[in-house]
Amino acid sequence: MKYDLMIKNGNIFTAGEEYIADIGIKDGKIVAIGCGLAESVACGCGSQGSTQVVDATGKFVFPGAIDIHTHIDAPLHGSHTLDDWYQGTYAAAFGGVTCVVDYPNQKIGESIRETIERVIRKAEKKAVVDFSCSPVITDRTEEVYQELPQLIEEGFPTYKVFMAYDFKVDDTELTRLLDVIGNHGGLLGVHCENDLAIGYLADKLVAEGKTEPKYHPLSRPPLAEAEATGRVIRTAAMVDAPVLIVHVSAAGALQEIAEARNSGWSVYAETCPHFLLLDEAVYNQPLEEAAKYVVTPPIRSRVHREALWNALSAGTVSLVSSDHCAFPLDEKLRLGAGPFTKIPHGAPGIETRVPLLFSEGVMKGRITAERFVELVSTNPAKLAGLYPQKGTIAVGSDADILIMDASRTYTLSVGSLKGVADFTPFEGYQIQGFPETVISHGNLVVHKGEAKAQPGTGKLTKRNKFKAF
Ligand code: MN
Ligand code: MN
Repeated sequence: MKYDLMIKNGNIFTAGEEYIADIGIKDGKIVAIGCGLAESVACGCGSQGSTQVVDATGKFVFPGAIDIHTHIDAPLHGSHTLDDWYQGTYAAAFGGVTCVVDYPNQKIGESIRETIERVIRKAEKKAVVDFSCSPVITDRTEEVYQELPQLIEEGFPTYKVFMAYDFKVDDTELTRLLDVIGNHGGLLGVHCENDLAIGYLADKLVAEGKTEPKYHPLSRPPLAEAEATGRVIRTAAMVDAPVLIVHVSAAGALQEIAEARNSGWSVYAETCPHFLLLDEAVYNQPLEEAAKYVVTPPIRSRVHREALWNALSAGTVSLVSSDHCAFPLDEKLRLGAGPFTKIPHGAPGIETRVPLLFSEGVMKGRITAERFVELVSTNPAKLAGLYPQKGTIAVGSDADILIMDASRTYTLSVGSLKGVADFTPFEGYQIQGFPETVISHGNLVVHKGEAKAQPGTGKLTKRNKFKAF
C-alpha cells in the first residue's frame, strides 16, 4: 500500500494527547499513525504514483477546526452578507477550518427540508471544505414539528431558534421544539436575549434622542441575556432535552449555565472571539468605527470577558465559534445613519477565529493546546454529530488536518485576509501562529499560505444523532 499523503514528524495534538509522529493518509482517511512510517510499503500490489510528503517538523498538527456557527450567503437584518459558499469556505480554510455547519434562516412558508435543500444547492458546487447546516426555525408550522424527527434521522440533528427578533419563539414553541428535537436525537441551539425587555429599552433610548451606536449595549444589557438563558435552560430541563446556548457573552448567563451543568443537566455553551478579546469601549467611537462592532449580544466590559476566559478553562463553555456574518461595511453605515437599532447585527470572523484563539489562548498561556483543540474542533464535532469522523486525529477518521506554524508572527488586517469581508473587528491584532497547511479528505486546500482548493471539492457531511458528553 502507498499512502496518498504523509505528514512527517509533526507535534500532534488531540483533545486528550500530545505526541510526535507521522500520519499516513489514503483515500481521504487517516490510515496510519506512528513514528518513522515508511513512505511506501512493499506489497506487490503494483500501486502507481508517489506519496506526497508534508514535513511538519516543529509544527503543531491539529484536527481541522470546525465552525458550527456561521451565516454564509445570508439575507438578514435588511441586508445581505458578502460571501457565497466559495468565498466563505475559502476564507474558512485559510483560517484553519475544514468543516462549516451554517445557520440558514428558514424562509416563511418554506419547510425545513426545503431550507436544507436550498442551502445544499448553493453550497455543493462552491464549497472548498465540508459543510452542513442547522436551520434557524422561523416559521413554526405543524408541518415543521412533524418533519423534524425524520430530518434528524437523515443526518440533520441540529437546529437553532431565537428568543429575540421578530422571528423569535414564544415559550410554548420553545418548549415543544426542545421536546421534539431533543427527544429524537437532535440538539437545539438558542440565541438567548429577552426580546420584550430589549424592545422597550431600545425604544426608550431612541425616543430620548440617544441614537448613536454607544447606546447599542445599553439596549441589550447582560441581565437580558442572563434572564433568557436561565429560562431556556429550565425549559429544556422540564422536557429533559439537551440545549446549546449559542454566543454567550455575559457573566450572569455563565452562572446559569455553570449551575445547570453542576446539576447534571445537558447544557452546552458557546462563545466567540469578539467576546473574549474586545471591550465595550469599541462603541464609544464615530459610527464609521463603532458600526463594525454592532453584533448581538453586544460586546461587553472587562468583567464579562474575564468570566468568559475562566469559563473556557473551567469547562463551563464547551466551544468557540465565529458567528461569522459578513455584512458589507457600507450597508452597516448606510442603515446606521438612523438610530443604532437599524445597523445590521453581525461581523466577519470565519478566518480569524482559530489564529486569534491560538495566539491569545495557547501562546499567551491562558489555555492548553489540548483545550484549544477541544474548543475549536472536538467539541464542535461532538455537538454537531460529526465525532469521531471529524474533530480528532485517529485511524479511521477523515484526513482533515490543520498544521500550525507557531513561530510565525504577523498583523491581522482586512487587506491581508483572504475572505471577501471588507472589514475585520480585529484590525491590527498581533498574531503568533499561522495556519500554514489545511488538509481536507487528504487533499491540500491551503499549503504554505497558498490556495490549492477547487470550488465544489467540499462535500455535504453526513451527521449522526447528538450524544451527550
Ligand atoms: Mn444569534
Ligand atoms: Mn449567529
